[in-house]
Amino acid sequence: MKPSIVWFRDDLRAADNPALRAAADDGSAVALYVLDEESPGIRPLGGASRWWLHHSLLALREDLAALGVPLLLRRGPATEVVRETATAVGTGSLYWNRRYGEPERMLDAGIKTWARESGMHAESFQASLLHEPWAVTTKQGGPFKVFTPFWRTVSGLDFREPLEAPEPGRGFSGRLPESEDLDTWGMLPRNPDWSAGLAESWQPGSAQAHELLDDFVENGLADYSVNRDRPDVPGSSRLSPFLRWGQLSPFEVWHAQQCRRQELGDGAAVFASELGWREFCWHQYFHHPDLATANLRPGFDHYPWAWPGGQGAGSHEPAVQEAANLLRAWQQGRTGFPIVDAGQRQLWHTGWMHNRVRMVSASLLVKNLGIHWQVGEQWFWDTLVDADPASNPANWQWVAGSGADASPFFRIFNPETQAKKFDPNGSYVGQWIPELSTADYPEPVVDLKASRREALDAYGNLPR
Ligand code: FAD
Repeated sequence: MKPSIVWFRDDLRAADNPALRAAADDGSAVALYVLDEESPGIRPLGGASRWWLHHSLLALREDLAALGVPLLLRRGPATEVVRETATAVGTGSLYWNRRYGEPERMLDAGIKTWARESGMHAESFQASLLHEPWAVTTKQGGPFKVFTPFWRTVSGLDFREPLEAPEPGRGFSGRLPESEDLDTWGMLPRNPDWSAGLAESWQPGSAQAHELLDDFVENGLADYSVNRDRPDVPGSSRLSPFLRWGQLSPFEVWHAQQCRRQELGDGAAVFASELGWREFCWHQYFHHPDLATANLRPGFDHYPWAWPGGQGAGSHEPAVQEAANLLRAWQQGRTGFPIVDAGQRQLWHTGWMHNRVRMVSASLLVKNLGIHWQVGEQWFWDTLVDADPASNPANWQWVAGSGADASPFFRIFNPETQAKKFDPNGSYVGQWIPELSTADYPEPVVDLKASRREALDAYGNLPR
C-alpha cells in the first residue's frame, strides 16, 4: 500500500482534521508542511505570526508523532515542493483541507490537477470554516453584504460534529526525504528578540487551545454578552490565534458552545455570532480577494488621507512628516490617549489586543489622525498572533467605513468616553501604562473635537 500525504496549512491540529483522517484511514500517512514565501500573491507572514507558526509546528510534530505520523518540513514554492515530496515518498493519495484566498486556491487547484494526471488520488476537505463561502448566496444569487441576513442563513445550516483524532496507526516504514530543520527557517526574532511577552502569554498548539476552550465554556460563556466588551476583565475567549492557525476548528468551538446553549441562551448566542463574524470576513475575502488593498466602497478612494498622502510616503512635506510622527506615536502607544496606548502596548507585548480596544485604536488612527486604514492593517498584520488575511482587512474596513456592513463613518469612537465606559476603574490602562500619572506620559497628539470635524467634512465631500 502506498503511503498517503496530508498537507497541513492553516489546520495545525490532529483532532477534527478530515484530511488527516482520510490519510490515516488509508493505512500509512506522512504529514507535510510547506513554508511558501515565494509563490506569487501569497502574503508574507508578519513577525508575530512567524513566531506563532514556529512554536505551532513543534507542537504539531509532537501530536502527530504520538499517532505515528512523521511531519516533513520543507520550504519553497508549494507547487514544486509538494510535487517533489509526493514523488519522493511514492505517495498514492494527497489530502488537504481547503484554503480560501485566491492565490492559494489557484495553487491548490494546479496541484490537484497535476496529482490526478499523475495517477494519484487528490482530495480536499472543508475544515476551517463552518460554511463554504460559495455555498450561501442572497436571493439574487450574489455574496452577502450585510451580516444579519448572512448569519441568519448560515447559522440555520447543520454543522457536522467534530471528528476525533485518528487512532495511532501502524506508522510509515519507508524512506522519507529529509525534513528541514525548523531552526534554519529564521522565524524567531533575534537582535532584538521581542518575543518574551508572547511566550509569557501563549503556548501555541492544540493543547492550550482546548484548555482555553473548556475553561471559557465552563466559566466565561455565561457572562460573555456583558463581559466581552470589557478589556479590564477576562471576558472573551482568547481563542482567535488558535482558530487562525487551526489548532482548534470552528466546528469544535461551535459544538462546545452549543452544548450550553439551552442553559445559557444569550451569552452563548452572542458568542456564536462572533464566530459568525469570522465566517462573514472569510465570505468577504473569498468574494473580494483584494480586501486588504481596495476599499469595498470605492467612494473612499477619494478620501484625503494624511498618510500615505498624495505626496507619497517618502515626501519631506511637513504635513507628511507630521503624519509619520503620529503613526509612530500610535504604534508605540504614546498618543496620549490611555486606552489606545494601553491597547497598542498590549499588542506589542502579547501579540493580541482586546476587540473593543482594537476598534477604538483603529478609529483614532483612521478618523482622528487621518492615516489610511491600510497602514493600520499592515501594522496589525505584523504584530497580531491572530492576524488573518480575511478578518484583519475586513475589520479595518469596517472601522474605516469603507467595508461591507461597515460602521457608519460618523461613528467616531471617543477614546475618553470609551475608556470611562469599558474600563471604569482604569485597571486596564493602569496595567499597560505604569507612567500614566507621571510627567513622562505624553499629552494627546491630536485635538479630538477638531480632528473629528475635519474627518466628517472630508467624508461629506466624498463622491456618492
Ligand atoms: P471572542 O470575543 O471570544 O470571539 C470568539 C471568536 O470569534 C474569535 O476568536 C474570533 O475567531 C471570532 N471573532 C470575534 N470577533 C470577530 C470579528 N469582529 N471579526 C472576525 N472574527 C471575530 N480577528 C482575527 O481573528 N484576526 C484578525 O486579524 C483581526 N483583526 C482585527 C482588526 C481590527 C481593526 C478589529 C477591530 C478587529 C479584528 N479582529 C481580528 C476581530 C476581533 O478583534 C478578534 O477576533 C477578537 O478580539 C479575538 O479575541 P477573542 O478570541 O477573545 O474573541
